[in-house]
Amino acid sequence: MNAGNSFSADDIIKGGDVLASLTPPAKLAVIGDPVAHSRSPQFHNAALAAAGIDGQYIRIQASPEQFEETLRALPGRGFLGANITIPHKASALAAVDVADGHAQRAGGVNTVLIDGGKLFGFSTDGPGLVRALREEFYIDLRDLRVMILGAGGGAGRAIAAQCAEERCERLVLVNRTVEKAKALAEELRPSFVGERLEGPVDRLVASEWTEKALRGHLEYVDLVINASSVGMRRSDPPALPATLLHPSLMIYDTVYAAERTRLVDEALSAGARAANGLSMLLHQGALAYEIWFDRPAPLEVMRKALLEAAG
Ligand code: NAP
Repeated sequence: MNAGNSFSADDIIKGGDVLASLTPPAKLAVIGDPVAHSRSPQFHNAALAAAGIDGQYIRIQASPEQFEETLRALPGRGFLGANITIPHKASALAAVDVADGHAQRAGGVNTVLIDGGKLFGFSTDGPGLVRALREEFYIDLRDLRVMILGAGGGAGRAIAAQCAEERCERLVLVNRTVEKAKALAEELRPSFVGERLEGPVDRLVASEWTEKALRGHLEYVDLVINASSVGMRRSDPPALPATLLHPSLMIYDTVYAAERTRLVDEALSAGARAANGLSMLLHQGALAYEIWFDRPAPLEVMRKALLEAAG
C-alpha cells in the first residue's frame, strides 16, 4: 500500500503496478479533491475486515478535469463501488448511468455501485442525517420545523431535499448567496403546499443570512442544521450568534472537524441540545455499505474506528 492509502487519478486511469500489487486488492474508494482528510477509509476498512471481505478501501485524488475518466476506469480495475466527495458530487450525478431518486433530488451522488460494468448513483447524505438525528435527539425530521444554514451547498441541498421528502413541518432555507436558497425553495415548493403548520409563518421560506432575519425565523424553528462550511476552522465566526441560541433549540452541526465545534460548544452552553456531524458521517457510510453489499453494515465496528480516527 502506498503512503496514506492514497492514489492519484493516473494510478487508476493507467492501472499501473501500484494498484495491481495491493493486498488485499482495492475494491472501494473515496474520490475527492482534496481527499487526504477523508475519514471514510478508516471506518470502511474496519468494516471490510470485520466482515471478512477480501478488499480494501482507498483514497483517490482526482481533479475536476480527471474526475469522470477516473470514475469510468473503476469497473475495469475490479472495483465494487466508490464514495464521491467535494467537489465532485454534482459531476457524479451527470456521469453515472442511473441515479436513484435521492440523488436526483439532492442534485448530487455520494455513493456509486458498480454492477455489470454500469455505474449506479445514490445519495446517502439525507437518509444518513435522518438516522443520525434519531440517534442523537430521538426525533424524526418529519415532525420538526427546520432551519438549514448553507442550504445552497451540496450537503445543504441534500438535507433540504430530505426535509421535503419527509414533508417536515416547516423549512427555512438560509444561504450566504440567498439567490440559491430562493431557487431551491421554488424547486421544493410542491412538497410544502397545504396548511399543516398553524401560526403566522409560511411553511417554506428562503432567508438572508443576517442576525435580524434569523432571529425572526428562529421563533418558529425546532432544529437548526449547519450544512455550511462555516465552523470547519476553529477561527471561523459562529454560524449562529450565541445570542440567538436558547434551551428549546436542537442544533445539528454537520461539520465534524472537531469533536465539539464552536457552534456545538455555544449551543450546549445555552442549554440547547447539540451534536456534531460525526453521526451523519457514520450513517451515510453505513448506508453506502448496505448498497454495496446488500446486507446490514457492522455499525458498531465502524463507529469505533471512526471515533478512534477522530481522536
Ligand atoms: P459546498 O457544496 O462547497 O457548500 C458550502 C456551503 O457553505 C454553501 O452553502 C456556501 O454558501 C456556504 N459557505 C461557505 N463559506 C461561507 C461563509 N464564509 N459564510 C457563509 N456561508 C458560507 O460544501 P458541502 O459539500 O455542502 O459541505 C458543507 C459542509 O457540510 C462541510 O462542513 C462538510 O464537512 C459538511 N458535510 C458533512 C457531512 C457529514 O456526513 N457529516 C456530509 C457532507 C458534508 P454559498 O452558496 O454562498 O457559497
